[in-house]
Amino acid sequence: MAIRGEMFVGGMPVVGPGEPFRAFDPARRVELEPAFGTASAAQVDQACALAQAAAAAYGATAPEQRAVFLERIAARLEAGAEQIVGRAKEETGLPEPRVRGELARTCGQLRLFARVARDGAWLDARIDHAQPARTPPRPDIRLVNQPVGPVAVFGASNFPLAFSVAGGDTASAFAAGCPVIVKAHHAHPGTSELAGRAIVEAVAECGLPPGTFALLFGSGVQTGCALVADPRVMAVGFTGSRRGGTALMAIAQARRQPIPVYAEMSSINPVLLLPGALAERGAAIGSAFAASLTLGAGQFCTNPGLLLALDGPGLGAFLEGTRAALASIAPATMLTPGIHEAYCRGVAALAANPRVKSGAQGPTGAGLVSEAHVFETSASDFLADPRLSEEVFGATALLVRCAGAEQLLAVVDALDGQLTAAVHAASSDMALAATVLPRLERRVGRVIFNGFGTGVEVCDAMVHGGPYPATSDGRSTSVGSLAIMRFVRPVSYQDVPAELLPPPLREENPWRLPRRVDGVRA
Ligand code: NAP
Repeated sequence: MAIRGEMFVGGMPVVGPGEPFRAFDPARRVELEPAFGTASAAQVDQACALAQAAAAAYGATAPEQRAVFLERIAARLEAGAEQIVGRAKEETGLPEPRVRGELARTCGQLRLFARVARDGAWLDARIDHAQPARTPPRPDIRLVNQPVGPVAVFGASNFPLAFSVAGGDTASAFAAGCPVIVKAHHAHPGTSELAGRAIVEAVAECGLPPGTFALLFGSGVQTGCALVADPRVMAVGFTGSRRGGTALMAIAQARRQPIPVYAEMSSINPVLLLPGALAERGAAIGSAFAASLTLGAGQFCTNPGLLLALDGPGLGAFLEGTRAALASIAPATMLTPGIHEAYCRGVAALAANPRVKSGAQGPTGAGLVSEAHVFETSASDFLADPRLSEEVFGATALLVRCAGAEQLLAVVDALDGQLTAAVHAASSDMALAATVLPRLERRVGRVIFNGFGTGVEVCDAMVHGGPYPATSDGRSTSVGSLAIMRFVRPVSYQDVPAELLPPPLREENPWRLPRRVDGVRA
């Protein structure tokens, strides 16, 4: 089916009457057809009204219905794979295998949340039966997690599929029983329309209320802010810049009823190079680091942007390994002219900083490419200059040379919140690793040993989150089955008549859920 420049509101394709825009192919540097109209204030209002109207009915669907819905979306995305992959490739400049892999990951994610919905453990149903004989008598109290209501999702520039219209935020909100309104990212509107159509068709096929899903085009400042400010929206999922995320947090907090914004923002993902590992395999670690640094033109939130190492002979081998590997990695096209411009600005600022010198560099290239850089500084300079802790989104990292273990620990303690930290350690490093690990736990969402944070598994035990500014709420994750918990809240039912109880709390347990009954798992 052709891409027509359409949004979706109330299950219907609509063209926004606002300022039209076109997608941009960053590899060929040409605009793509067709034009996409942006949403009017009335369309934003209508999407919110329909989502609110759908919230009760969709929120009351049984786990099996939600699971089938999620599976239908995945099947429709797969059926349209050739067109989706072709368009996403053009709109992002990402290579085809990466886009295909991302589509597979997106469908896998939808199926994971189908499994989560069916399993029902996240409902955390609890029953504490009445104890009339107790003094004082205890009432009957039951608890279940309920969906929060309509969720606004902001598509991310760097994952046109897995963190966009049908991505993890949408899948987890649907699994929780929440209608979703997506504000598409302007960088990949055609891909967004195709994914949006797959969801709209699945909504109709499953007989769900049309307000269960809407897709809107428009600027962040207009459409995005209007959505977050709308009193019918109850939570927000966002991946992007710290500036964008904090602007949305401020709007959400200023509402008459403040709401949670789950924003994944900036992270430089420290990599600790311990001396034993450097001495044992410095060059090999350097080579693996270069591959991780340049993956996807460095446009991953888990990109290794900071290296912390004890000064010593192994560090030379590491840098040699990095230089040798970078030499054969061609710079890749970045997602948008804006992201490329921000990257060049970040690199220029580091290059001009008198506390910093160049440590390694990849090949140069023409066009909107991310040329790889590794800069170096000392731990004392790093601690003295907060600008050195800022994310440079792309294939650039800063190596911080530490004079000893104490200084390494001081730098770790000074770090902002991070999505990930990696530790490269040999068996001779275990004492230092044991000292460092409890301090990293307080700073990051995921610790990796002898690897890198790029490559985020979608599974039950994954945390893709971390303290601010990595995310707005370090108690949450945006990847993995735990992501569903962002979009529910617990409700207790005290002495509520049996026939009025939600199904998970009825004595007969009609959905056969795992429950805690009178303190015992049942
Ligand atoms: P972005 O500028 O934060 O945009 C993400 C989304 O938020 C877009 O839909 C944007 O709308 C909206 N938005 C931005 N500022 C807003 C505001 N003040 N109020 C309301 N909505 C707002 O991120 P981006 O376009 O993806 O990339 C820009 C930079 O973000 C990158 O250079 C990089 O530094 C960072 N980034 C970080 C990550 C990460 O995971 N750490 C991922 C992606 C990007 P518009 O359509 O109007 O732009």
